[in-house]
Amino acid sequence: MPERFHIITQGCQMNVRDSEAMAGLLARMGYASADDPADADVIILNTCTVREGAEDRAYGRLGQLRSFKQRRPGLLLGVAGCLVQQERERVLQRAPWLDFVFGVHNIHRLPELLREARDGCMPVYEVWDRSDRDRPLPVLPAYRAASGGGGVRGFVNIIHGCNKFCTFCIVPYVRGRERSVPPEDVVAEVRALAGQGVREVTLLGQNVDSYGHDLSPRRDLAGLLELVHEVDGIERIRFTTSHPRDMTRRLIETVARLPKACEHIHLPAQAGDDEILRRMHRAYTAAQYRETADAVRAEMPHASLTTDIIVGFPGETEEAFDRTLRFVEDVRFDAVNTAMYSPREGTPAAGYTDQVADDVKRRRLAALNRMQERIAAEINAALVGSRQDVLVEETGRKGGVLGRTRTNKVVTFEGGGDLIGRTMPVEIVEAGSWVLRGRELSA
Ligand code: SAM
Ligand code: SF4
Repeated sequence: MPERFHIITQGCQMNVRDSEAMAGLLARMGYASADDPADADVIILNTCTVREGAEDRAYGRLGQLRSFKQRRPGLLLGVAGCLVQQERERVLQRAPWLDFVFGVHNIHRLPELLREARDGCMPVYEVWDRSDRDRPLPVLPAYRAASGGGGVRGFVNIIHGCNKFCTFCIVPYVRGRERSVPPEDVVAEVRALAGQGVREVTLLGQNVDSYGHDLSPRRDLAGLLELVHEVDGIERIRFTTSHPRDMTRRLIETVARLPKACEHIHLPAQAGDDEILRRMHRAYTAAQYRETADAVRAEMPHASLTTDIIVGFPGETEEAFDRTLRFVEDVRFDAVNTAMYSPREGTPAAGYTDQVADDVKRRRLAALNRMQERIAAEINAALVGSRQDVLVEETGRKGGVLGRTRTNKVVTFEGGGDLIGRTMPVEIVEAGSWVLRGRELSA
């Protein structure tokens, strides 16, 4: 019986894709996947560090994993991802029972690391290797069964790292500078995914709108969408995350024109107050953001627009927060990922002296969430009675099936597993803030 692996993924879609790459490498080494960590010979925790809460969850999980090691002495336990990149020494101090530790730039070294760990060099760790960052990006195999979406959705990294240095954000420090994946590699990966039955691809990066500026010849996301659009078998294309400063009219027009490009734009605003935006180093004003949002809606009137907002950034006064509330009310987002500002050691904003008290942050978060839930419920209620094309991803926990509209809204409806991977016409019969309920229409 082959040895088995189990990967636990925390954090964003970039981490999901990294975990798929780890799983792909392990599968190539002859490992099989284990659904239950108790059955695994190798467990990897892929961590996030974007907020303190994420870090706490990672340390909590490491503590739990220790018990597996006590019960199964041959087990190799590894930790990967952004937390390691940020504070390798602390991870090793707090979890000395780990067998191997590796960062986001060294995923391709997993086979060596595992072999060394098996040979008893414990722990083996490789975190930040400059020579690796300068080398061409390794093309890593992916094992998709481990990620959600029932094998219908696939994530493809098109650009690594970030050059923006928003003052609150740890990402550029842990993931390094921007490096675009050559278009031919992106297309090859999408083609391979289509061959495995994937119907929808999401092109990923911290700032996909700056895709290609570092390539020779220079490329852009709009051009890449055109190339990916040619891949047979792929029905839907999404991309995330965009940056309001870099989103071009050419990109918006391309999304509107290409039938496979879905009319959902995730465009993190972070705040609606100009002074806070300035202190965040976001490089746009609320009015400029608004212009881009209006341009999206002018080209695609039925597009959904979602965003990220941070409350309680240092120096955020009641008036500034009110401006953000009014901005969110005004733009009327389909969904908002909200977060309380969390100081990240080493970032400029963590050193600002006008930090906002935790109870104020909590109150503001609750007010923003309340307002957004109402707006989302209103927007979704207007969809009742409409026809939507739903790409079915999986069977629902409470029966029926679950899928998404082109605008990325989750819809459940009656049906069996044979619908997975098919796009079904569905009438929306009920709507909440988060999920829509539908009824299959005959085609
Ligand atoms: N690149 C994207 C952008 O430009 O917005 C987002 C990447 S970031 C990993 C994902 C989200 O985490 C951000 O949009 C932001 O809202 C949130 N985030 C990042 N750092 C944070 C911090 N220190 N405190 C609270 N939220 C944070
Ligand atoms: Fe972080 Fe800003 Fe880069 Fe997004 S654009 S990853 S928020 S530094």
